[in-house]
Amino acid sequence: MSGRPEQRLTTDNVWRVLEAARGRCSYCGSLAVEGRPSAGNGAPTAWEQVGRRIGSLGHRLGRVNGGDNVPENLVWSCLWCNVWMEERTWGASDHGAIP
Ligand SMILES: [Zn+2]
Repeated sequence: MSGRPEQRLTTDNVWRVLEAARGRCSYCGSLAVEGRPSAGNGAPTAWEQVGRRIGSLGHRLGRVNGGDNVPENLVWSCLWCNVWMEERTWGASDHGAIP
């Protein structure tokens, strides 16, 4: 177990990481947001030719290995790359575990 983190994450922390990554997984480049891409007025826009995966907040150095919730250790990651580090492939165009 990694124990209690020194810093608790807030919604704002997560949003900043997601926004900086523009919703793309830092490891494979897939769009990793739950919502469909939309224009400023909310109208749906076309998907880009990239994979679409579930997004998650990751730690560059895992909490179990001593990494903490500090901004420089946080990374936006699709759930697939966050769980299966050995399967991270830049430019992946599939949908991870999403059928
Ligand atoms: Zn990924």
